[in-house]
Amino acid sequence: RKLGIALVGLGNYATNQLAPALQETEKCYLAGIVTGTPSKAAAWKRKYNIPDQNIYNYETYDQIADNPDIDIIYVVLPNAMHAEYTVRGAQAGKHMISEKPMATSVADCQRMIEACNKSNVKLSIGYRLHFEPHNLRVMELGQQQVYGPVQRIEAADSFVMSGNPDRWRLDKKLAGGGPLMDLGIYCVQGAIYTMGQTPTAVTAKFGEVTRPDFFDEVEQSIDWQMEFPNGAVADCTTSYNKDQNLLYGKADKGWWRLQPAYSYSGIQGETSAGPMNLSNVNQQARQMDAFAECILENKTTRVPGEMGLRDVRILEAIYEAARTGKRVEIKV
Ligand code: NAD
Repeated sequence: RKLGIALVGLGNYATNQLAPALQETEKCYLAGIVTGTPSKAAAWKRKYNIPDQNIYNYETYDQIADNPDIDIIYVVLPNAMHAEYTVRGAQAGKHMISEKPMATSVADCQRMIEACNKSNVKLSIGYRLHFEPHNLRVMELGQQQVYGPVQRIEAADSFVMSGNPDRWRLDKKLAGGGPLMDLGIYCVQGAIYTMGQTPTAVTAKFGEVTRPDFFDEVEQSIDWQMEFPNGAVADCTTSYNKDQNLLYGKADKGWWRLQPAYSYSGIQGETSAGPMNLSNVNQQARQMDAFAECILENKTTRVPGEMGLRDVRILEAIYEAARTGKRVEIKV
C-alpha cells in the first residue's frame, strides 16, 4: 500500500517541488491538501485528481484525524507556523514532516517532538540533502576519514533577494530570522554531516545592511564559525544579497568541493582525486519515500525531529554570538 501524504501550505516549494516529486514516489502519493485559498484548492483538485473529502482549510484541518486516506502530513508553511501545524497534525494521529528550519525556537521544537511522541507518530524534517548522492558522498568522505581527519570546512549559501520586500521571509515573526534560518541552516547541516559531530562552540558577526528597505527586521547577512570537538573549524556565510552555494572540506590528505552544493538539481562535486561523477536525483521523492518506508517498516528516520531541534539550538547560538560578540558554547 502507498501511504497518503497531505501537503499543508501550497506555496512555492509545495507547488514546484513537492507535488511534482510526489508523482515519482513509490511508497507514498499526494492524497490531500490543506490550503486557505479556495482557488488553489480547485486548481490542485483538477491537476492532481484530489477527492473533495481530502481537501481541507485551516479551520477544518483537525478533522483530518477522521480521514484514513491521510497517513502523513507535510507542513510547508512559513517557519513560525511549523510548530502549531505539526502539533495539531500529531494530535490528529498522523505522521509528520516539517519543513526546515523545524521551528523558530528551541521550545517550539521540543513541543513538536513531545506531541509526536505522545501520539506515537513519527516526525521528520525536510532535510532532502540526506538523500542526495553528492552530499552523501561528502558524509562518507568526512565521517569515514577517507582523506584522514577533516581540518577545515567552508560553507556558503546565499541568494539575492529581489522583488517586493513585503514577504514572510523578511518578517521576523514568521521567519524567525533572515538568511541564517532559511539558507545558513544548510551550511550548519553540511558542516555537521561532513564531520559526523556536533559543534561545541560558535562565533559570529552580522554583515552590513546595505538595503534597509528589505532588512529592517531580519539580518541581511551573517558570517560565523563553528568549532568541532576534534579541532576542525567550519567557516560559514549566508546572505540575501549575494549568490553563493558551496560546501568545501579539507582533510589531512585531500579535499572535496560541492558547487553548487544545496540545489534541487545540478549539484557538482569534485575531490582532490578528480570529479565525483555522481548523478542528480529527485531528492524530495527519495526523502518522502524514505520516510514512508520508515513508517511501513517501523524504522527510525535519518532526519528526525531531534536533528531539527539540534540545528535550531545551533542557529540560536549563532544569533547570540552575533548579538553579543562573544564565543557561545553549545551544550547538547
Ligand atoms: P511560500 O511563501 O512560497 O509559501 C508559503 C505558503 O504558506 C503559501 O502558500 C501561503 O499562502 C501559506 N501561508 C499560510 N499562512 C500564511 C501566513 N500567515 N503568511 C504567509 N504565508 C502563509 O514559501 P515556500 O518557499 O514554499 O516555503 C515554505 C516552507 O518551506 C518554509 O519553511 C521554507 O523554509 C521551506 N522550504 C524548504 C525548501 C527545501 O529545499 N527543503 C525549499 C523552499 C522552502
